[in-house]
Amino acid sequence: MLSLFALCLVPAAAAFAQSQPILSEDTVKVSNHVWAIMGFPNIGIVVGANATLVVDTGLGPRNGATVVRVAKKLAPNNKLYLTTTHFHPEHAAGEPGFPPGTILIRNKVQQDEMDKHGEEMIDLFAGRNAQQKELLANVKLRPPDETFDKERKLDLGGGVTARLLWFGGAHTKGDELTFVDPDKTLISGDVVQNKVVPNIFREGGTPSSWIAVLDQVEKLGALHVLPDHSAIGDGSLVAQEKAFIVDLEARALDLKRRGVNADEAGKLLTTEFKQKYADWPINSVANFVKSIYAE
Ligand SMILES: [Zn+2]
Ligand SMILES: [Zn+2]
Repeated sequence: MLSLFALCLVPAAAAFAQSQPILSEDTVKVSNHVWAIMGFPNIGIVVGANATLVVDTGLGPRNGATVVRVAKKLAPNNKLYLTTTHFHPEHAAGEPGFPPGTILIRNKVQQDEMDKHGEEMIDLFAGRNAQQKELLANVKLRPPDETFDKERKLDLGGGVTARLLWFGGAHTKGDELTFVDPDKTLISGDVVQNKVVPNIFREGGTPSSWIAVLDQVEKLGALHVLPDHSAIGDGSLVAQEKAFIVDLEARALDLKRRGVNADEAGKLLTTEFKQKYADWPINSVANFVKSIYAE
């Protein structure tokens, strides 16, 4: 009864929360050892017997501190690890809200993007409105305690492990995935979302590198997926994400071969995909079509 009640209420509440830059302390249980704060963005909290891994920080230190309070409520004495799905400010710029002694880990490619564009992205987000400016005031990004190339396995105690994975570029170059055992829960960032048109940010990945990443993600055999900006789903989200990109790529390349320019193809395919994927809230596929044309 309780779970049915939760199932009915969560999606509407989550859709509202996902546009609010202030995170709440409410959690949703994703699987036996994984909780989420549904917001901007969704935050993953993986709890083992001795250590807790937080995935993403929220926008600025005030949100970071909220996430820490929630993590401490779930496991007061656990050692704290932090990682980020990618370098964008709502995912990473809440780090100063975490206590000293938090072990910050991310992949090298993501750290390189952070070093090159982290400050610039904070300025861009702060320039959007007064609230974001306040949330991001005086944020200083610190170097991570650890970086890794492709995989770093964390033992959180009690048989709970989290594999931090870098499979290649998608939304950004440094997109990181976290796979939790024994739950088989994937914290997927932007790489796998729930009915969201994929978006390659500036010089991030390419449509084919995104598909190549998804080929590797499929092999993980996820049962639960927590995306960063959409609703929680099951393992079928991985195949759904791949099928959408493969479909859009095939249609765009067909139009390209027939001499249709990128702008026109973006318009045509937006209309077509709104009909074909009627239960996806699609505004436009034009950006991704541009990425396909550019490859
Ligand atoms: Zn984001
Ligand atoms: Zn992003």
